[in-house]
Amino acid sequence: MNARDLAVWLFARVGMAAFLRKILVRDGRFALNLHGVSSRRYKTVPQNLQPHHSVGEFRQVLTWLSARYNFLSVDDFLFTDFPGVLLTFDDGHANNFTNVLPVLAEFGAQGLFFVSTQHVRSPRNWLTFVCEQARLGWESEMAVPEDFARDCYDGLSDEQLVELAGSPYGVIGSHTVHHPSLSGCSDIELQAELIESRHYLQQLTGQDVNCFAYPYGDYNLDVARSVKHAGYKAAFAVDPVLVGMPAFEIPRVDLYYASPDYLSAKLSGLHRGAIRGAIVDRGER
Ligand SMILES: [Zn+2]
Repeated sequence: MNARDLAVWLFARVGMAAFLRKILVRDGRFALNLHGVSSRRYKTVPQNLQPHHSVGEFRQVLTWLSARYNFLSVDDFLFTDFPGVLLTFDDGHANNFTNVLPVLAEFGAQGLFFVSTQHVRSPRNWLTFVCEQARLGWESEMAVPEDFARDCYDGLSDEQLVELAGSPYGVIGSHTVHHPSLSGCSDIELQAELIESRHYLQQLTGQDVNCFAYPYGDYNLDVARSVKHAGYKAAFAVDPVLVGMPAFEIPRVDLYYASPDYLSAKLSGLHRGAIRGAIVDRGER
């Protein structure tokens, strides 16, 4: 156990984490940021090339959360002040449908799925960071084993996305078309990323797409204004840079592991993030 792990373990064990959580999150509301969930751990593939959680680990996370918090629906999170946790999932991998949705149904929890549309139009047209992972682990993208590729790297198919959107446990948000860092985009690129992805998702699902998540959590005031201008009602960051648009820089706690000590330490501060009161005006719906 290294020094950092020891500190996390001690923090959780001496009860400080639970104590702080009680004080800070008594009636707090917060959103978690999750990503892909694989059907299992792949022993022959380095951990950093796999999704953060396997389905077994994901179930552990929800078990731990369900003992401590209520799961909030997207509407409850955005439009009420009910305390609890909203689960969000970035990127739109096929495993969000195959591995995440059944577990959400088990727990009666709704997920907000932020989808990059590039790999929905063509599930093997992987996002740039996925291609980089593939090239780190294999000679080429073509050499990634088929079962692993389908389970870990592919995007949602059109059919999966429609079914996810039609489920009571799934709400679809946009995560751009190509998953770029938005603060580095030209105005034209920015508009295209925001508007085309929203249009595509709305056409496909027949539902309004009101929520957006910034790829890499990267945004600035111009980006946040453009998101609002493109018709979204709320946008999710990770660590907000505070540009004075609270509904367009909602903080999220990102989770990369499943151990109880990690969860306890990570969620104990709930950093200033205990969001009080409704953050989106009902009139704007
Ligand atoms: Zn992302």
